[in-house]
Amino acid sequence: MQSEKAWLQWVRRAAGEARRPEVRLGIGDDAALLRPRRGWELALTTDLLVEDVHFLRQYDTAATCGHRLVTRALSDLAAMGAEPVAVLVSSAYPEDLPAAWPRQLYRGILAALQPAQAVLAGGDVAAAPAGKILLDIVGLGQVPAGRALRRSGARAGDRIFVSGTLGLGARGRELAHTGQKPANPDDRRALKHHRRPRARWELGIALRGRASAAIDISDGLATDLDHLCAESGVGAVIDAASIPALATDRDQHGALGGGEDYELLFTVPARRRWRPPAGVTAIGSITAERGVWIADAGRRRRLPAAGWEHFSRRQR
Ligand SMILES: [Mg+2]
Repeated sequence: MQSEKAWLQWVRRAAGEARRPEVRLGIGDDAALLRPRRGWELALTTDLLVEDVHFLRQYDTAATCGHRLVTRALSDLAAMGAEPVAVLVSSAYPEDLPAAWPRQLYRGILAALQPAQAVLAGGDVAAAPAGKILLDIVGLGQVPAGRALRRSGARAGDRIFVSGTLGLGARGRELAHTGQKPANPDDRRALKHHRRPRARWELGIALRGRASAAIDISDGLATDLDHLCAESGVGAVIDAASIPALATDRDQHGALGGGEDYELLFTVPARRRWRPPAGVTAIGSITAERGVWIADAGRRRRLPAAGWEHFSRRQR
């Protein structure tokens, strides 16, 4: 690894001219200065990406880690209906890591920030004595005061929607981590999603004032729907046939229990005549009775909240 000073200079150069008005001062001073739009509030989130827990160095490239680190933060901001503004990234590397790795990581980070017009506003770097890479991101977003989407607003009768195709994250991880060749167009989409996931911040912003509750799908539909219902004090019934799963995911294990889909799961009051945009699917409704159920060919079964955590334990 190069000296901290040389590294900082490299990062400043790589970050280039990316600016936005809310970031009054970015990389280079003791702290960044932010001024959110008048009448807006800041949304803050933080996430970790840990080698051998969230990624495997032999299969996941540094650029992929950069994309996924940023997507984790932007997906949380999306779920709040917040517009991404800036991120701070701190990382710790083993001493023997080639200098190309962090450079590729930061190229991935900057590439993932670009479509959201969010900027890298600072960070820190240190040596990791344990021989494993640790990556930490802080995401900063802004949302009109009082209009953030919350997990807690779902009410009985609300319709439940999800964006995108669920299970791409799980299938992409499986392909990447086994070295399997993609066998069909869905596999190619899954691998692309694994390498370059993209958060749904535009949808999150569009849902302000429409959705009654929202959460991003980072741990799998079953777990994240359970979180939303718990925060709202309600239950849910979803229809297995309507879940936008991959054709190859026949038991819907990837859609229900996989992770890292970075889609939005949200509820809309039934009285609100809202037409979902393309790529958004109605999958069920909220009930006053607690518990999450899945209706499959006329039969109802309890949906256990077993998502990514459970999945990763099974996998290793
Ligand atoms: Mg989240």
